[in-house]
Amino acid sequence: MNYVFPLTQSAVPIAGGDALFPVRRIYCVGRNYADHAKEMGFDARELPFFFCKPADAAVAVLPGTVGKIAFPPRTENFHHEIELVVAIGKAGSNIPVDQADAHVFGYAVGLDMTRRDLQFALRDKGRPWELGKAFDQSAPIGIIHPVSETGIIDKSGIWLKVNGQERQNSDLAKLIWSVPEIIANLSEYFTLAPGDLIFTGTPEGVGKVQKGDVLIGGIAGLGELSIELC
Ligand code: MN
Repeated sequence: MNYVFPLTQSAVPIAGGDALFPVRRIYCVGRNYADHAKEMGFDARELPFFFCKPADAAVAVLPGTVGKIAFPPRTENFHHEIELVVAIGKAGSNIPVDQADAHVFGYAVGLDMTRRDLQFALRDKGRPWELGKAFDQSAPIGIIHPVSETGIIDKSGIWLKVNGQERQNSDLAKLIWSVPEIIANLSEYFTLAPGDLIFTGTPEGVGKVQKGDVLIGGIAGLGELSIELC
């Protein structure tokens, strides 16, 4: 038997060689920094909640290059969300918090690009968020740094500039739900598997971008991610 169309596989380069991380699923955490929850209109601590993007929403951007991202259709309020991305390297379900780090393959800098106008319209009607979150090229991501190189990361500066101007600047230590807590909770609902990516939420300062803007984001120890909206 043959496939009637060529197989496609979304993948992200891994630092330190020519290996690729094949993307299986992309999970995202909502409202995981207190000051971002506030700017979205919420202030109570709640259990983490999740949404997904398709694997082919990932657009890998190599260090020293600028990824070209098409400005998406059907939005007049396109937002940046700079985030720590956790790459899963070991399968598991119902993973205890104290064993969660063993499932981490590595880390990357990512952008959870968002059609905020569509997201809010859907949210306010109690409808699914896909049109606001899961569109083409909505998950630009830098190379993956293996945890064997970085060690476990639980605090580090995270920032984003648009056209050289600072928009977001926080620290991973301010995550409401830590990476191990996210892995533990998510794995109660889904069996995690090698190839999964988890976008862990964005700090405050999200905002609108437009065609022609250049976004540069980074996390100390994980390098930078640069994209241009075309
Ligand atoms: Mn996000």
